[in-house]
Amino acid sequence: MEMGEKSLFLEKSAGPKDALRGLANEVESCERCPLFRSRTNSVFGEGNPRAEIMFVGEAPGRDEDVKGRPFVGAAGRLLTRMIEAIDLRRSDVYIANVLKCRPPGNRDPLPEEVDACKEFLFKQIELINPKVICGLGSHATRTLLETSESISKLRGKVHTCRSKMFVPTYHPAALLRNTGWKRAAWEDLKLVRRLTKGSSDAG
Ligand code: URA
Repeated sequence: MEMGEKSLFLEKSAGPKDALRGLANEVESCERCPLFRSRTNSVFGEGNPRAEIMFVGEAPGRDEDVKGRPFVGAAGRLLTRMIEAIDLRRSDVYIANVLKCRPPGNRDPLPEEVDACKEFLFKQIELINPKVICGLGSHATRTLLETSESISKLRGKVHTCRSKMFVPTYHPAALLRNTGWKRAAWEDLKLVRRLTKGSSDAG
C-alpha cells in the first residue's frame, strides 16, 4: 500500500469522534488570540458527534470557563430544558460556541477574537455534519450567517449556513431576562425538531 493510500484510509476510519478529539486538543493549546491568557479552561463543545441538531452559542461564561463545558450555568439549565421540551436529551445533540475561551467579565466577543476562533467551529460543523444548526442569539447567528441583521428579524425562518439548515433563535440568557420572548423561542425549537423529521415547512 502506498503511503498516501494508507493515510487516506486512516483519516476515513477515524470518524468524527476521534477527529473532534484531535480538534479539541488543538483548541486546548490555542494561542490565536489573547483570550488564552485569562482562560481557566477552553470550552470546546460536547454532545453526540453524529448529532442531527447542533446548538451554537456565543462564548463560555464563568461557569463554563471553570468546568470546561458549554452551557452549564443558569442559561445552560434553560437550554437543557429547551432541548428536553422537544423530546431530546443533551446527549442527543451537540452544543458548541463561536468562541472557545471566555471573554473577561463576559463582555461581547471582539471581531478579531471571532475571526481567530471561527475556523474551529466551522471544522466542528463539517465533522459533525448536522442536519440543522440552531443559532443561539445574535453573535452566533451573525457570525454563521455573515449578516448584521437583528435576531428578531432573522428568527422564525430557515436559513442556510455551510450547506446546513440554520434556524436562529433567542439566546437562553436573553430569554431569562425577557420571558416574553419564550413563546417565539418555543416556535423556533419546534421548527428545528420538524426539520429533523424531514418537513421544511416553516409555518
Ligand atoms: N452562553 C453562551 O453563549 N455559551 C455558553 O456556553 C454559556 C453561556
